[in-house]
Amino acid sequence: MKDVVIIGGGPGGLLAAKTAVENGLSAVVIEMKQSYDKLRRACSQQFILDDDYEGEGVEVCDGYLNFPKSGFTVPYTGKLVPVYNKYYHSPKNKVMRFARNDGKEPFSYKFDKQYMLKELYNICSDMGVEFMLGTTAAGGRDNGDYVEVDIKTSEGTGVVKGKKLIIAEGANAALCAKFGLNENRPHIASALTVKYIMSGISGVENNSWNLYYGRAYKSNAAIIIGPSLYGDGIYEVTVTGDSKNRPDDIFKVMSTESPLKDNFANAKLEDKMGCFVKAYMSMANPYKGNIIAIGDAAAFVEVEVQGAFLCGYHAANAVKAELDGQDGFKQYTKWWQESFEFNNGDHLKVSQGYALVPVYTDDELDYLFGLVEGECMHGTYSQYKTPKLMWDGFLSHVDKIKAERPDTYAKIEKLNSMSLDAAIGK
Ligand SMILES: Cc1cc2nc3c(=O)[nH]c(=O)nc-3n(C[C@H](O)[C@H](O)[C@H](O)COP(=O)(O)OP(=O)(O)OC[C@H]3O[C@@H](n4cnc5c(N)ncnc54)[C@H](O)[C@@H]3O)c2cc1C
Repeated sequence: MKDVVIIGGGPGGLLAAKTAVENGLSAVVIEMKQSYDKLRRACSQQFILDDDYEGEGVEVCDGYLNFPKSGFTVPYTGKLVPVYNKYYHSPKNKVMRFARNDGKEPFSYKFDKQYMLKELYNICSDMGVEFMLGTTAAGGRDNGDYVEVDIKTSEGTGVVKGKKLIIAEGANAALCAKFGLNENRPHIASALTVKYIMSGISGVENNSWNLYYGRAYKSNAAIIIGPSLYGDGIYEVTVTGDSKNRPDDIFKVMSTESPLKDNFANAKLEDKMGCFVKAYMSMANPYKGNIIAIGDAAAFVEVEVQGAFLCGYHAANAVKAELDGQDGFKQYTKWWQESFEFNNGDHLKVSQGYALVPVYTDDELDYLFGLVEGECMHGTYSQYKTPKLMWDGFLSHVDKIKAERPDTYAKIEKLNSMSLDAAIGK
């Protein structure tokens, strides 16, 4: 019987385990991966440097990350690649630019997630966290006084017991459903994302993050080209599709028939990784009895790595408070609701700004992007702030749009007043 059982050894689960042991609790992590030596799940691996992001604002320091408001640090001695400019490209390459201090200050750092998790895993092991690697949590029960988790390994099945359970299984939230935490939680979409690590791509600035929007690029989701961890001149190309429009099929036509075809003429594949993401709306109350869901498992799509660290830290403190007879999970829920932008309806609405394709035609995108070409908008990697800045930029020309493109304006007005569910066709 452990004080806390943690399902999932990603950033959320590992930081929960580290903090639990620092709080004097016993902790076990159940992780389906066999080891931390290879990470094959696609992730863009960038920190969001905005001061107010997720109610915190992470500081990237030499050898560690600092979370000043919450008052903890996470060791990280791996690579950091600064990202200075973010460009949104329309089909005819009208370009919107986002940067800080005219591109002299990074708005994001790319990091090595595999290295980071392994470093944290080693620290946790040294501190006495028990790891059950190569072990899948398959279900379980809350017995009131303690929780049982059913596990499967290559050798057979078993049961792990703990006074409290933290579910940090990531976005697909299958265990959350089994433990009854997904009730009345709308499923928004499922997506397949593939990252192609490529050399020989031409016409892309080093250390920049580029999103290509328009039907011309053969995808409803933006095609993204950004820096990789493999060095200058080797880029990461991100393609998102689904089971019907598979990323490999999109990639093939995008790289040979879209306006990017010349950039890919001499490109060579160096590596490839992918993932399947099942995205839900956020859990308003992420706990039930002795069980709490944290990180992506409880989020609107994702909390990002820095958000998962925050969740792990606060959840382990919540478990300690619960075991000391206080309302730890209630306090965690208050923090969760106040800190994450997706728990605020206004910010959720903002994310509908991503619904550019196929809502707007390629010609409309050329027109809208052209309105702000030459301006430099604030550099941010936030998925909430960016669309807001973009729409604020377009709508600063509202009278011009009304006069020149009344049909486009009517579309904008309709879409920007819709709820997120309506905007994505739910
Ligand atoms: C395409 C893409 C791009 C992204 N880009 C960025 C970015 O640029 N910056 C950023 O910060 N974040 C990014 N993210 C998001 C980031 O990956 C997540 O927010 C973060 O990893 C969440 O951490 P977590 O601990 O909640 O879950 P996860 O990292 O998903 O970890 C969950 C762990 O649980 C394990 N697990 C799952 N089910 C079970 C089970 N039944 N039994 C045992 N183990 C189980 C998994 O193997 C995994 O190790 C991106 C995500 C995607 C998909």
